[in-house]
Formats: sequence, structure tokens, C-alpha cells
Amino acid sequence: MLMRKILLIFALLLVAPPLANARPVKFGFFYTTGALKEFGNQGGIEIRVHDAVWRTAKEFDIAISISFIKPLPFLPPLITPESKDIFPASEKKSGIESYPFLSMLDAQLVNIQNADYIFTVTSEVLWYQDLTEENTLRFKQLDGLTRNHRNPGKHAILKDFKNRGREYFTEILWHEWGHMLGLKHWDKQTCFTIHFLMCNHAPLTQPLIIEKSFRDAVRATAQMFEKQRD
Ligand SMILES: [Zn+2]
Repeated sequence: MLMRKILLIFALLLVAPPLANARPVKFGFFYTTGALKEFGNQGGIEIRVHDAVWRTAKEFDIAISISFIKPLPFLPPLITPESKDIFPASEKKSGIESYPFLSMLDAQLVNIQNADYIFTVTSEVLWYQDLTEENTLRFKQLDGLTRNHRNPGKHAILKDFKNRGREYFTEILWHEWGHMLGLKHWDKQTCFTIHFLMCNHAPLTQPLIIEKSFRDAVRATAQMFEKQRD
């Protein structure tokens, strides 16, 4: 009888998921003064961030912990379109120069070890310089930014669009995280009809389809961290 009990306990141990020791994926969040202005206070940003993380954990059935939500400890590289003639005439808004900002995040936040992935929430316009079809340099806007899939980094910038709601904020987070996990964009033809997460210019009028490759990358990453110890 005792032997049977011991065997039963042993069997249970074998099938039980390693919940007690499983290490979650750790996300850290910084926010800019623009985001603070937009949300009114840190509480507003915390609600947005917790909502996105909760959606992520639920959608992909993984454990995520939030290591921190705090103000960015330095100023992003701000630019004012009024001083430059390469901005579209209709969009004379001040904002952040995206790629130099990402380099600053990589350089200045290099010692932050308690998060696997660090996201900086902005409400400022994210500008980047791009060559137009006429081969002239113009400033365009970005929704988010991180390193490309060949050289994925730890930092991403997420623009919060208040008018597009929390679902879109979560989608930007997933898209940038996808790059951090090594995923690249789908080709233009695919993205013309299908609204995949890893579309560069997703047709937002179409319902979002989370591609299998994205789910696989998230699951593999979560399982990799589950096996690690703190
Ligand atoms: Zn992208």
C-alpha cells in the first residue's frame, strides 16, 4: 500500500508542470515625459502596460513578470520639424529621432540586468529619415522600433496611439518583440491582404491573424526562460 502511494506521488511529480520553479519572461518598461503627459500620471501608464502584458500572457499561455515601470533616466533626442525642411509639410510636429534614440537606449541602459526585454513607451512622434521614391531624404513616422532580426537587441520603442486603443498598443509590443525573437517582416504581397503581426504596413482594416511562426517563437522563448534559474 505504501509502495503504491510512493509510486503515485512519483508519477504525479513526473507529470506535474514545473510551476513552482518556472522562471517567467521578464519585461521592463520605461516611459518618456511625453507618455507621462499623455496619460496624466504613472498610474495611467501602469494600467496600459499591465493590460498589454496580461493580454500577452493570456494569448500565448506563458508566464511574464513586469520587472519595473519607471521614467526614462535621460532625455530622448528630440527634433522640431520647424527647423528642418525635409519634413512633410502636413506633419510639422516635434518628436523623437527614432534610430539615434534606439542607439541611446542600447548604450545607456546596458547595465539593466533584471529584465529580458526592455520597452520604452512614448507618446511623442517617432520620426525616422527615409529616402523617398524621388530619392530625397524625408522624415517619416514609425509606430515602434527595435533592432532587426539579424541582430536582435534587448530594447524596443513603443509608440502609444491613444486614439487606436490598447489593442493596437499590444500589437506594437508583439510586433517589436517578434523582431527581438528573430522574426522578420512578411513580404509586401502577403501583407497587402493579410494582417499578420509581422507585417511592416499591416492592413489594419483586416482582422489580426497571429501567424504560427510567431506563436512558435514566443513558446520557444518562454520555455527557454522557464528552464533558467534566477
Ligand atoms: Zn517591424
